[in-house]
Amino acid sequence: MTTMNTTLLHVCCAPCSTVPFQLFSENEESFSAFFYNPNIQPAEEYERRLTCLRSFAHDRGVELKEGAYDPEAWDTAIGECAGIVPLIKDDPSYEENLALRKARCRACYALRFERLAACAVQHGFSSIATTLSISPYQFTDIMADELLAAAKREGVLSGFVDYHKRYPVSVKRAREFGLYRQNYCGCRYSKTEAEQERAARKIARKATQKAAQKHSHAPTQNRAARKTAQTRAASPVDSSSVNTAEAQ
Ligand code: SF4
Repeated sequence: MTTMNTTLLHVCCAPCSTVPFQLFSENEESFSAFFYNPNIQPAEEYERRLTCLRSFAHDRGVELKEGAYDPEAWDTAIGECAGIVPLIKDDPSYEENLALRKARCRACYALRFERLAACAVQHGFSSIATTLSISPYQFTDIMADELLAAAKREGVLSGFVDYHKRYPVSVKRAREFGLYRQNYCGCRYSKTEAEQERAARKIARKATQKAAQKHSHAPTQNRAARKTAQTRAASPVDSSSVNTAEAQ
């Protein structure tokens, strides 16, 4: 098959595709989108993300290729890296969990990019790329490594772009377009981790607010005490003095 000078862009969801789709179009670079994300669970969530992307890509005239939904393949790929590892600041397990999370995400990227590269070769694309890098919650360096490794194995180019600085723009666009926005990465572990991390952040925020309130009340009390003392000092005599004076 003749290889076209085009990119097959791995897409994780519609919100993350907003900026890359626009940049490819503005730069007049030829590309197609590829949705292969067997990490997403449950199946209803997978359908929801895919349905939203289908409609978004269709409206923009972007060709969308779809890989199979194969959660068993994902479980096999993750293997011993499976498990819930929340990343909670100040938690003694943070560093250990971070290493475990990185290993799991690496295996997850590797599977998705392996299929991406195979699909690129099958359909004659010359390079592969991914929208995943727009998320500040992903491991960009690991992702770039895995994309390059998959590209090399299949003899295509890696067109990795780090989009993460444009994350706020993608959130804004997703809101403007009314796109479905999920609140966890995709796998079942990430769903629980996101819940635990949100809960921990909420507790930390409350503790900070409480400390700030305590701090702001302290000077007020001091001010009030100072004012009372000043009033007393400025007063010519108190009631007991009057009585004493009258008696004299
Ligand atoms: S957190 Fe996201 S990237 Fe990491 S394993 Fe889960 S789905 Fe994959």
